[in-house]
Amino acid sequence: MVFHFEKPPGFDYKAGQFADYTLVNPSENDAEGSTRGFSLTSAPYENDLMAATRMRDTAFKRVLKTMEIGTDFLLDAPYGSFTLHNNSKIPAVFITGGIGITPVRSIVLQATHDKLPHKIFLFDSNRRPEDAAFLDDLMEAQKENPNFTFVGTMTEMEKSDREWHDETGLINKEMLLKYIGDLTLPIYYLCGPASMVAAMRKILNEAGVDDDNIRTEEFSGY
Ligand SMILES: Cc1cc2nc3c(=O)[nH]c(=O)nc-3n(C[C@H](O)[C@H](O)[C@H](O)COP(=O)(O)OP(=O)(O)OC[C@H]3O[C@@H](n4cnc5c(N)ncnc54)[C@H](O)[C@@H]3O)c2cc1C
Repeated sequence: MVFHFEKPPGFDYKAGQFADYTLVNPSENDAEGSTRGFSLTSAPYENDLMAATRMRDTAFKRVLKTMEIGTDFLLDAPYGSFTLHNNSKIPAVFITGGIGITPVRSIVLQATHDKLPHKIFLFDSNRRPEDAAFLDDLMEAQKENPNFTFVGTMTEMEKSDREWHDETGLINKEMLLKYIGDLTLPIYYLCGPASMVAAMRKILNEAGVDDDNIRTEEFSGY
């Protein structure tokens, strides 16, 4: 689910950063408490703040799902340095799994809006197109931004009712090589569950990519 919040006056952030959201006087609570960190999936140029999350049956998310429009939140933000590097001569490669797409939507849309010269590749892995968040936004960005290449890959197409004409299967070295060429050139940004981030780092390291050129955001709690 995607949640839209009114942007507090004067609040500024960089694409890729995150916020801590705290429920005020929630109707229920559990051991994990009433605060969660979510990436600011809206781009800074957009009017609202947006958070997107996989809904699970936790007290925080039950309250989030049923709250009335106009409910107050405490916002502690912005945090994080998962932001695009400055040197536009170095390509950026984003590798995301599932809900790990959230900060990258912000970065790609802001780069497109600002007409940044950076070459940007996004490898986004999901089970099925039905599960993939922001597919339409990213495809639209690819049409607008000649420097942006979107590579979606689906790992369980046999369970899908939709058509899919991009990649299938897990992201591996061969898939990266097909689009990027020299794998040692870019800065890599990995975002998703810890297991996915670890698997991608291993592939990159084995392909000769230095850890200095790998930046990660791990979504704890999944
Ligand atoms: C920098 C950063 C950015 C993040 N950005 C995002 C974002 O944009 N979107 C997003 O969705 N998340 C994001 N997260 C993760 C988010 O903060 C929460 O940890 C996550 O949404 C889980 O919250 P929860 O209420 O579902 O589970 P919690 O109540 O926090 O439970 C956490 C633990 O309980 C277990 N658990 C709870 N429910 C289940 C279940 N149904 N099945 C299996 N195990 C369960 C899990 O193993 C987990 O270890 C981010 C985290 C970080 C650190």
